[in-house]
Amino acid sequence: MLKSEAKAASKVCGEAGRALFHQEIGQYFIGETKFKPMPAGTACPNCGATDVPLWKNASNNIVCAPQIAITSKRPGREKADQPCLPPPAGTDGMVSFAEGAIAIAGPGWGKAITRLLPQVPVPPSLQVIFPEGGDRNKVLAQLLRDPPAPPFVVIIFGKKGEFVAELTVDVGSLVINGPEGAGGYRIDRNAALALLALCGQLKWEELEKISAARLRMLANANTEADRKIIDGLPGRLPTGVTVSTLFRLLPSPGTPQYTALRILLTSETSTTSKPTF
Ligand SMILES: [Zn+2]
Repeated sequence: MLKSEAKAASKVCGEAGRALFHQEIGQYFIGETKFKPMPAGTACPNCGATDVPLWKNASNNIVCAPQIAITSKRPGREKADQPCLPPPAGTDGMVSFAEGAIAIAGPGWGKAITRLLPQVPVPPSLQVIFPEGGDRNKVLAQLLRDPPAPPFVVIIFGKKGEFVAELTVDVGSLVINGPEGAGGYRIDRNAALALLALCGQLKWEELEKISAARLRMLANANTEADRKIIDGLPGRLPTGVTVSTLFRLLPSPGTPQYTALRILLTSETSTTSKPTF
C-alpha cells in the first residue's frame, strides 16, 4: 500500500510546494500501486532529492509519491451530486489531476477541485469539490481579492506531471504553479489591485480595446478609431488619473499581470458566489 509507505517516510519530495500538496491532498488520492520501489539514494527527477521514496512506473520513469498521485488515472465522478466516497472497485479509471484539476493547500487544510475520487475517506480539513466550469478564474479572483494566510501552495494541473511547485509565502507575490500553459507564474498582487483602482468604471471589454490602441500608439500605427477611444478616456477614469498614467502602468497582453487584471475586472464581486478558502 503506497499510501502507508508515503506516510511512514519523513519526506515525500524535496519541493516544499509539492510536499504540502501531497500531505494535505495527494496522499488521499494515491491508492495502491504496482510500481517497483527504487533503491534508497536514487535522485527524484523532479526535485533532485535523494532521500525520498521513489518508484519506477509503467513507462520506466522514476516517480515520487506526489507524482504518482498527480498522474495516475483512477475513477472519477460524473456528476456533482455523486457521493465523494472511496470507489469500491479499486483504482482503475480514466481520471487524474492532470486533466486540469486545481489544488490549494496550506498547513492543516486543503481544497481540491477535481472529478477524481479519493481512494480513502478524506479528513474534514480537505474539501473535494466537483468542477463546474470557470473554476480557474474563480479561484484566481478569490486569491487576488482575499488570499488565505501564507504559506500555501496553488497548483493548476495540466497534461505534464513534471513541474516545480513553489509556496506562496507573501500574498503580495502569488505563485500559480503548474505545467506550461497552466501555471508557472507569479502575480504581483499589490500592482494588480492598484491597477484595478486606476481603471475606475472601465469594463474589461473597453480595457482590451484601450490596450490594443495603446500598443498601436507605441508602434506609431494608431488609427482614427484608436484616437477616438483615447480622446474619450479622461471622463471614464477616476479623478486624478491621467491617460498617460494608465498607459504607463497597463500590462502587456499575455503577461500574468494582464491575466490578473482581466480576472479582477470580470469576476463576481458579490460574496454569495465566491469560493472560500
Ligand atoms: Zn521530488
